[in-house]
Amino acid sequence: MIPFLDLKEINQQYHQDLKDACSRVIDSGWYIMGNELDKFEQEFAEYCGSKYCIGVANGLDALILTLRAWKELGKLEDGDEVIVPSNTYIASILAISENNLTPVLVEPNAKTFNLAAEGIKSAITERTKAILPVHLYGQISPMDEIVSIANEHNLLILEDCAQSHGALLDGKKAGTWGDAGAFSFYPGKNLGALGDAGAITTDNEELFEVLTALRNYGSHEKYKNKYKGVNSRLDEIQAAMLRVKLKHLDRETKARQAVAQQYLEGISNPLIELPFVSYAEGHVWHLFVIKTKYREKLQKYLSDNGIQTLIHYPIAPHKQLAYSEWNELHLPISEELHKDVLSLPISSVLETGDVRICVELINKFSN
Ligand SMILES: *Cc1c(COP(=O)(O)O)cnc(C)c1O
Repeated sequence: MIPFLDLKEINQQYHQDLKDACSRVIDSGWYIMGNELDKFEQEFAEYCGSKYCIGVANGLDALILTLRAWKELGKLEDGDEVIVPSNTYIASILAISENNLTPVLVEPNAKTFNLAAEGIKSAITERTKAILPVHLYGQISPMDEIVSIANEHNLLILEDCAQSHGALLDGKKAGTWGDAGAFSFYPGKNLGALGDAGAITTDNEELFEVLTALRNYGSHEKYKNKYKGVNSRLDEIQAAMLRVKLKHLDRETKARQAVAQQYLEGISNPLIELPFVSYAEGHVWHLFVIKTKYREKLQKYLSDNGIQTLIHYPIAPHKQLAYSEWNELHLPISEELHKDVLSLPISSVLETGDVRICVELINKFSN
């Protein structure tokens, strides 16, 4: 069986370092908001090229708390519109509705699956206050264009970087183009903890100050509460695990890029549409997503032949029960994507021989 993603094997590579880091935390006697978090925040900010990094409990909280902080700062208010791609993982949209803001679903570019200038421009209204681009599957959105639209209309930008750790455009990393970037370190992400974790990157000192309070009961100083905050902290054990794995992120990304290249060069079946690559050197390949009209058949055929694939994502957010108010909306590009996409195995530990087996099987597939 070729698994979609072998987390055990990925973490096995760092077994001793992870254990040593864990022991270091156990022996320190300090488990929340300590040295490991401080260090990880510095190291991740440096990795991304941002001035600040604020660790939080998970990626969804990174999104929610950033929007919340802008409300505390008076930059957003209830009912303001936030432009978000209609084909994202639902977390990006939940973060907007959780803050009583209005998500405005915009269809992605049909080739890149990311937001593009045309779509954003036609969705801007008087009430638009922010854009939330998602760098889907590891490929950065056209941030140069998005930043210029935002500047022109005085909009905030929150990048959803949950799938794009280290992704680049013009040498500048995801999470440093907008006013803030929200990251998830869920175990299966490109930089994955051994549990839940997330972070926000920003160059903005005001935002940094509010976020460091919001994640910790709204408090900068023990028992003095400036905001009605929450408990969303990145604990010391997870910070220590992430510090070990951050050192290997670029090497792991290169391994993913090599797998992607092998698929791109090898798959030649006309029934399969390969992913479109806008900036090859900057794509971090969180997922390798193909499109086919014969998805169910292909998935079963691969599974019968020992290859596990997944679907990201089977149901569009506007077709979910949670957003029943949108169920009648018709967003054809998103709907087609949710019907046709299939994610092939990809990771830093997937062997060349296994990729070759996948390629050969896919090329032999017929409808
Ligand atoms: C994973 C993911 C999130 C949420 O991250 P969690 O850490 O699971 O809360 C948000 N947005 C996107 C695009 C994701 O893929």
